[in-house]
Amino acid sequence: MIPSLNPNSIYNKRVLLRVDLNMPMLDGEILSMARWLNVLPTIKRILEEKPKKLVILSHLGQPNGIELALSLLHIQKVIKKDLPGIKLIKKISDIKDEGGIFLLENVRFDEREKTLDQTLIDEYLSVIDTVIFDAFSVSHRNHASVTGILASAKTYAFGPLFHRERKAIDTALSRSGKRIAILSGAKISTKLPMIKKMLTWADHVLVGGGIANTLLHASGYNMQDSLKDVNAITDARMMLNKTSKLILPIDGLNQSEGILDFESSSMSQGDKILDIGPKTLQLYAKYIDQADTIIWNGPLGYYESPRFQRGTQQIALSIASASGYSIVGGGDSVAAIEDLNISHQFDYVSTSGGAFLHYVAYGTLPVIEAVAEKIIHEPETA
Ligand code: ADP
Ligand code: MG
Repeated sequence: MIPSLNPNSIYNKRVLLRVDLNMPMLDGEILSMARWLNVLPTIKRILEEKPKKLVILSHLGQPNGIELALSLLHIQKVIKKDLPGIKLIKKISDIKDEGGIFLLENVRFDEREKTLDQTLIDEYLSVIDTVIFDAFSVSHRNHASVTGILASAKTYAFGPLFHRERKAIDTALSRSGKRIAILSGAKISTKLPMIKKMLTWADHVLVGGGIANTLLHASGYNMQDSLKDVNAITDARMMLNKTSKLILPIDGLNQSEGILDFESSSMSQGDKILDIGPKTLQLYAKYIDQADTIIWNGPLGYYESPRFQRGTQQIALSIASASGYSIVGGGDSVAAIEDLNISHQFDYVSTSGGAFLHYVAYGTLPVIEAVAEKIIHEPETA
């Protein structure tokens, strides 16, 4: 149902490869090459089998129509070192009969990409024989170059990065022993399915950030001006009533870096909690040390400011030195780990945010459903 890359099916074929080259950029300069380095082995593997043509597809950012700042020209410039012959093309139909290695311009420049327009999917498929999907980080999106091409392609496969991401999550979820999840970040509402899943899977769910603020507020502690989801207070209250697995911070840092003990003092009007406090760090470190499996998503404080990075960094370091199996996903959490240069001390650092949350929460992804449905609907061949 989820076929892996089969080298025999590539020789002399016209191959389309969907990857994620949405790399962080500032003024046209690429800040991290991690996404490219993750898919380069897939590309090398495909090229070893001598396809007639390889067309690489990716999005970059959230363009509104055609925006030169988000052109894949910036990406082509840096990946040329590894793939000297790669040509940037505007439209896939421009290379009907040509062989070679091509990089298609930002798929999101075409407004039909996000609307899952069949005319765009047909355009993609008209010039290629097989689709290889290795963009785990967008596999929760119903877009033309994601679920669209997979549902319509006659032959397709999933690349090694996709399988690696799934396997790391499957491994974590299936482990026995003490399990903890650390869930933090900005909004509870975007992470509700993940929180619910973790409340069934884990022995304890440790929270921070806006999620913790919302839960604390729902429990009756006035969080004043702290970041919280006012629309999720009822959900938060229901969760607190239903489970004893949630572990909430016992102290926090306010905007002037003052430590506030939630058990013995209340917050003043206008105050905001921007990081977890030292007692919470100690408490969470104990859970982390004793866990056999740790799943982490979301910075524990307002990470953009160096004054409130300590909670996130200390939690990252605790997980890195713990003996349990550890995985982490989420754009901002992963960036924090990269800043500390400790990625190698985790069992798996996902390349994904939304797709990571989706797969952990539901055990499936829209791309998997796209091909599963196709197989069910395909007539049996004689
Ligand atoms: P991820 O990308 O890892 O899934 P999120 O996007 O959910 O994480 O959350 C990251 C954001 O949450 C960051 O912008 C960070 O500053 C913010 N954040 C976390 N805790 C707080 C807090 N206490 N107050 C304000 N912002 C916070
Ligand atoms: Mg984020």
